[in-house]
Amino acid sequence: MRVTVLGAGVIGVTTAYYLVRDGHEVTVVDRQPGPGLETSFANGGQISANHVTPWATPATPWKALKWLGRADAPLRFHLRADPALWAWCLRFLANCTHRRMGINIERALRLALYSRGELAKLRSDTGIRYDALTRGILHIFRNARDYREALPQVELMNRLGCVRRVIDAEACIDLEPALAGVRDRLVGGIFSPDDESGDAHAFTVRLAEICAGLGVVFRYGVRIGKPVTAAGRIEGVETNGGRLDGDAFVVALGSYSPLLLKPLGIGLPIYPAKGYSVTLPVADEGLAPMVSLIDDEFKMVYSRLGDRLRAAGTAEFAGYDDSVSEVRGRFILGKALELFPGCGDAAEAQFWAGLRPSTPDGVPVVGETRYPNLFLNTGHGTLGWTMACGSGRLIADIVGGGLPEIPIAGLGIERFS
Ligand SMILES: Cc1cc2nc3c(=O)[nH]c(=O)nc-3n(C[C@H](O)[C@H](O)[C@H](O)COP(=O)(O)OP(=O)(O)OC[C@H]3O[C@@H](n4cnc5c(N)ncnc54)[C@H](O)[C@@H]3O)c2cc1C
Repeated sequence: MRVTVLGAGVIGVTTAYYLVRDGHEVTVVDRQPGPGLETSFANGGQISANHVTPWATPATPWKALKWLGRADAPLRFHLRADPALWAWCLRFLANCTHRRMGINIERALRLALYSRGELAKLRSDTGIRYDALTRGILHIFRNARDYREALPQVELMNRLGCVRRVIDAEACIDLEPALAGVRDRLVGGIFSPDDESGDAHAFTVRLAEICAGLGVVFRYGVRIGKPVTAAGRIEGVETNGGRLDGDAFVVALGSYSPLLLKPLGIGLPIYPAKGYSVTLPVADEGLAPMVSLIDDEFKMVYSRLGDRLRAAGTAEFAGYDDSVSEVRGRFILGKALELFPGCGDAAEAQFWAGLRPSTPDGVPVVGETRYPNLFLNTGHGTLGWTMACGSGRLIADIVGGGLPEIPIAGLGIERFS
């Protein structure tokens, strides 16, 4: 079958890999000059299958109110006259209950754990290198109340198949000696030994090369416009380089996916949540962490990518503005240097911002649509790198009419209808 994958981020490229391995004729289309140049470019680097708790929790609305107007708030809503934002917020609020949170965690975890296994297989099948580290993820806490509140979730997640260990402050420092500078302020941590980290952009670029070697055609610099329909099917998509045809189409356009689907009458509740990262060259090996970290206090993540340290965080709901705010970038850099003084060369720091394709329930949209040859692999929010291989494998099974290895209930667009 001729399958056209729309989007060459980490999701589009992994989709192409599994499709071509299944024997399809695959074309990937993207407006950028290469793969992984938008949200997949400089994310937090974590394969955090054990940390899939969505943003929508019973505590979030209260926290968001507390953060209102604070320049250093990890979650910021720019109140603007944008119906898509308001509709998204209402759905988000509806997901802030214990019952919905439990359902959403189960769905996200099902896909994330599957994905981590598929990534391991892909790594051994291809030998791909992307500064991968398999040293686990350590979630550190500096506030005793937040720590206490996080502990019941450890039990819930462990019951669902995670391995998460509650450890004291000393054990955190034994695991990651670079934390020694904040010994007095740490109250404890939660360690997930099976989680990983790595450079999502390097992975996407190398996997695209592998795909090209397997026969996938990449068409870069092509702006995708409206889909063309006939007899209830998608015949093609209009682009600035002419119409692109195919037997089947997979939408992997990240935050821009709803814009393509709107003319088809498909409402996809994905809204861009802007995040920032700072990447700096490691100045002193002993002062920069090797274990990937989540700092609960500022909702920031840290990953060691070879001789670089990446710090990432914040979520701003400000529409499709992906400009890099110097203030937000400097805030992240400041927090990184506070936690790991002297770890990196601040003068060489690179600031970046990207738009997380966020669904209100924190679960991506992977599956069919009412058009029999149009499929969705999008809306991965904070977990696109974590879930890329599992989502790619699943969508290839669905497109090819095969039986997916894990249940797909609750992952498709029908849950929003
Ligand atoms: C600050 C930050 C930190 C993060 N940290 C992590 C982390 O630690 N772990 C994790 O798992 N995830 C993390 N994420 C999330 C992860 O990066 C995303 O979920 C993932 O990159 C989404 O991939 P994608 O392929 O769906 O989107 P993208 O990478 O944005 O790809 C979509 C592609 O579609 C193309 N496109 C869009 N519209 C058009 C059009 N009209 N025509 C042609 N091409 C088009 C774009 O050019 C782009 O290449 C983070 C995100 C951010 C912002």
